[in-house]
Amino acid sequence: MIPTAFDYQRATSLDDALAKLSASNGAGKLIAGGHSLVPLMKLRLSEPTMLIDIARIPDLAGIREQDGTLEIGAGTVHHDVATSPVLRQHCPVVADTAATIGDPQVRNRGTLGGSLAHADPAADYPAVMLALDAEIHLRSSTAARVVLARDFFQNVLTVDLAPDEIITAVRFAPVRAASYAKLYQRASRFAIVGVAAALDVSDGVIRSARIGLTGAVSHAVRLTTVEAALAGCEPTSRACAEAARLAGSDLEDINGDIHASETYRRAMIPVFTRRALDGALARLTVQS
Ligand SMILES: Cc1cc2nc3c(=O)[nH]c(=O)nc-3n(C[C@H](O)[C@H](O)[C@H](O)COP(=O)(O)OP(=O)(O)OC[C@H]3O[C@@H](n4cnc5c(N)ncnc54)[C@H](O)[C@@H]3O)c2cc1C
Repeated sequence: MIPTAFDYQRATSLDDALAKLSASNGAGKLIAGGHSLVPLMKLRLSEPTMLIDIARIPDLAGIREQDGTLEIGAGTVHHDVATSPVLRQHCPVVADTAATIGDPQVRNRGTLGGSLAHADPAADYPAVMLALDAEIHLRSSTAARVVLARDFFQNVLTVDLAPDEIITAVRFAPVRAASYAKLYQRASRFAIVGVAAALDVSDGVIRSARIGLTGAVSHAVRLTTVEAALAGCEPTSRACAEAARLAGSDLEDINGDIHASETYRRAMIPVFTRRALDGALARLTVQS
């Protein structure tokens, strides 16, 4: 289908994009990679009258390490995340996750910020941002604020983001002992069930675990029951297997669609939780 008519402006800087968004009085819609927005426009599920293109703002892209914190600009395309030496060295789970997204065309156009703002229930990054306890940095023309990933994702395609705000970056403390495992839809590679696990281990004990789940419910959530079961355990495959059995047991309204039934998804949540935990354990072994 052909989208409804719209005007188009290209922003040259973050300030320019914020000014254009503010001047549009609610009519403006940001476009980055266009890989989620354009399909919606073609289906006429979204009918913006003004597109503000933020795909060519240099400051919005890039991956940086400063004072032990990693920052990824919202305009960074998935391919650059997947191939980042900084991420591969300090927090490989993020690069691994980006490498599983879609196909080369999607990875070379789609952006981190676009994925987080769109919040598709089957998107990969949200699970990882939850496991890393990431901060999502937002700017409007009048203010800046920071939202934790656990507060950002709220419902299907619904996040804590005002129409006049732009996601500028995500920031997180790197975790090496972290891994992402997904059962993916064969055509698009979106997650049917995707689990990201990050472990904090010291002196032979799991001090804390953070586990993010995507694909299975309306929006990405933490598997807090599994996290609680792991805290204080030795970091063994057996402990992880036992804790993973609990995954999803407290979740209601599991998604069911043409790709996988509710029953199948529910059965796969513990399976992929265990795989993500085993992947995190393997990194722990390499690390120590
Ligand atoms: C064939 C195909 C396969 C895919 N497979 C996967 C997959 O396996 N896993 C996966 O996770 N995703 C997948 N995707 C989605 C892909 O990752 C998209 O690139 C991503 O979801 C949206 O990023 P974008 O830059 O294209 O955003 P756009 O489509 O440009 O924008 C999406 C939404 O985000 C808003 N937005 C964009 N940037 C910002 C910003 N900085 N601040 C605030 N709002 C912003 C826009 O206004 C719009 O509402 C797939 C897409 C396609 C077409």
